[in-house]
Amino acid sequence: MDYDPDAEAVGEAIKEAVPANVSEAIRTLIRWSGDNPEREGLLETPERVARAWREYCRGYNADPAYHLSRIFHEVGGYDDIVLLKDIPFQSHCEHHMAPIIGRGHIAYLPGKYVVGISKLARVLHAFANRLQVQERLTAEVANCIWENLKPQGVAVVIEATHGCMTGRGVRTPNVLMKTSRMLGVFRDDEKSREEVLKLIDS
Ligand SMILES: [Zn+2]
Repeated sequence: MDYDPDAEAVGEAIKEAVPANVSEAIRTLIRWSGDNPEREGLLETPERVARAWREYCRGYNADPAYHLSRIFHEVGGYDDIVLLKDIPFQSHCEHHMAPIIGRGHIAYLPGKYVVGISKLARVLHAFANRLQVQERLTAEVANCIWENLKPQGVAVVIEATHGCMTGRGVRTPNVLMKTSRMLGVFRDDEKSREEVLKLIDS
């Protein structure tokens, strides 16, 4: 069961032939940006960009819930918060296809089940490797864990910078956008929410 859908998708993207209309679209974009796609440095760029985009968007070929299908019933009496902090990720905003670079923090209060902690990072990556908005990414990760792991509570906090803000438009570097989604006890019980947010901030 060491099948890794992420790794497989990357491998396929590297091997895959790039259709002529895809390369042509990127050449058109280079021309539109003001450069000449026929100059030497740009000759192989369309194929590279096309393959890179397959890789950025490999989450479309991933099933995020797959990573939660191996659950462990034995929690060994552990009945406190499990937190995976500072998970780096990269995504792309669906409005400009510009990079979103950030970190996610995922916490849950187990019910009957726990998972290997790396699986939480894989759920984040499976949703991040798509065209996204940060709010939806946050909600999708939380909902997926909520529905598949059936914990007592889930807290997902995502902090990210958006290329479309730092590199264009208002050009405000170092602005960090923070989103959170709380479910179960972390939504309903103020004390639990405070406890998990304190853990995440510490
Ligand atoms: Zn954007």
